[in-house]
Amino acid sequence: MAIILPSLPFEKNELEPYISSLTLEYHYGKHHNTYVVNTNNLIKETELDTLSLEEIILQTANDPTKTSLFNNAAQVWNHTFYWNSLKPNGGGLPTGEIAKKIDSDFGNYDNFAKALKEAALGQFGSGWAWLVLKNGKLSISKTSNADTPIAHGIKPLLCIDIWEHAYYLDYKNGRADYADAVIKNLLNWEFANTNLEG
Ligand code: MN
Repeated sequence: MAIILPSLPFEKNELEPYISSLTLEYHYGKHHNTYVVNTNNLIKETELDTLSLEEIILQTANDPTKTSLFNNAAQVWNHTFYWNSLKPNGGGLPTGEIAKKIDSDFGNYDNFAKALKEAALGQFGSGWAWLVLKNGKLSISKTSNADTPIAHGIKPLLCIDIWEHAYYLDYKNGRADYADAVIKNLLNWEFANTNLEG
């Protein structure tokens, strides 16, 4: 089956002023789309073209002959997860079950926000910062390049893209300002709660 580029869950200008429509034009319209095109080209006329995106990621994660396919497929998945991790008028204090888990597993919201920001800043080079559920507890992790928690059997709840293409047009080299803006104003707690339940 062909892998598709899902629609954005918001309009391109709705994350302004924190993420511009210009960034989304490139990040979604060019980067995310290119990962979809590359994935489809790499599975075309192979035994992998009947698999779901998740199955492709799991099948290629530890295969050194399929690195390019893993990287592109995982980037398709990570970006779709990232768009869903953001919402206009998001951020702020969590609500629902995730709020209780953050208090029990991090002590309080401020500790959580600090740890997520530290992961975003601490990733050397390109990658992703994640809120994940691991052995029943919330934790923060980071992955390099295209790597994704689902390749390691870990359940992601939210993520922040920390490749330079995610923030350079709006923040130049200011990764800390971008991470702050996302955490404070855009995180989608409803999505985190849905993932926690699922
Ligand atoms: Mn990206």
